[in-house]
Amino acid sequence: MTTIDSFIFSGKKAIIRVDFNVPLDKKTFEITDDSRIRASLKTISKILNDGGSVILMSHLGRPKTGPEEKYSLKHIVAHASKLLGREIKFVNDCIGEVAKQAAANLKSGEVLLLENLRFHPEEEKGDENFAKELALLADVYLNDAFGTAHRAHASTTIIANYFSKENKMFGYLMASEIASADKVMKNTQHPFTAIIGGAKVSDKILILEKLVDIADNIIVGGGMSYTFFKAMGGNIGNSLCENDRIDNAIKLLEKAKQKNVKFLLPADSMTSDVFGNDGNRKTADSKNIETGFMGLDIGPKAVEEFTQTIMNSKTILWNGPMGVFEMSNFRNGTVKIAEAVANATQQGAYSLVGGGDSVAAVNQFGFADKVSYVSTGGGALLEYFEGKELPGVAAIMHD
Ligand code: AMP
Repeated sequence: MTTIDSFIFSGKKAIIRVDFNVPLDKKTFEITDDSRIRASLKTISKILNDGGSVILMSHLGRPKTGPEEKYSLKHIVAHASKLLGREIKFVNDCIGEVAKQAAANLKSGEVLLLENLRFHPEEEKGDENFAKELALLADVYLNDAFGTAHRAHASTTIIANYFSKENKMFGYLMASEIASADKVMKNTQHPFTAIIGGAKVSDKILILEKLVDIADNIIVGGGMSYTFFKAMGGNIGNSLCENDRIDNAIKLLEKAKQKNVKFLLPADSMTSDVFGNDGNRKTADSKNIETGFMGLDIGPKAVEEFTQTIMNSKTILWNGPMGVFEMSNFRNGTVKIAEAVANATQQGAYSLVGGGDSVAAVNQFGFADKVSYVSTGGGALLEYFEGKELPGVAAIMHD
């Protein structure tokens, strides 16, 4: 497989699938979080420094059938140019005559951003002709968009068919995402602790089933833990519960026992009589929550137990918050677990935080640079951990 480090880009036009799907202010269209753009800079700079030119393509938001002003990538040109320290040219379509002309005119050291790929429904359909039109704009293809690697879209997967194996490769971001996931999943240092939280068992059941095979400890917190307590015959009051997942929960607990995997649930919970910040609050045994109350965060005993296990780990995977961390009264559990993961990392553990809300939490609470790796791929990372081959990864790895 070709790697970006071994490739000389001098005189070449490289088309990069980046993830510029950044959040924009609804009125001013200003970027509210530019981390995805920052994450792509290393790959772009390497190509430019080699003397190549760069064509950037991305999606932004979820346009319905065609172009929509609010999803135009033109909104990000000025800020991305500033971050890169070079002018980024923009063309208002990603295929057709205008795109062809703009790509043909591109000189060594120049950067061109194509308009939102999803203004063409062919992108998500993985259309061959659309992919071919994109491919014809460049000599080399790089995929640096891990967040969409689990989709067989035209720009993430099908386009790779139009490049020989020497002329397609991962960008730095994608390569480091895969290396970091493999460090946790394939080259695991034990003890390995997986911390899984968030709202629903149904979203995490496949990853939990996989983790029972590879982890030493599984910590389950957040709303999903109450389905497990219900499965064990507990009283969970008004806490979140997925009754149709109780069987899954029982089977998982049994499998964990058979495999000698320690399955930790929060012994106590911070409960409230409303789903809000200002209700009556009390700490309760998670198996015995009063009628009218619901568990919205893990309690102090749970924090202590989870912290102990985390501190004794060599590898840590964290996906999903321990409670409703968006509300100040129920963020303590998530903050304390972030702190434990950061401390374990400082002691030499390898820690990977991945999946929407836990990433938001480590960023919000200032722990992002105290863990080993913060993944940019939510769904893609989960699917990789579930053991699925990601189409965007396979398209580069196989001929
Ligand atoms: P997920 O997207 O599945 O990782 O879930 C994240 C969401 O779960 C966040 O918005 C949290 O507010 C929510 N959440 C976490 N714990 C609880 C809980 N105990 N009850 C209700 N929602 C929760």
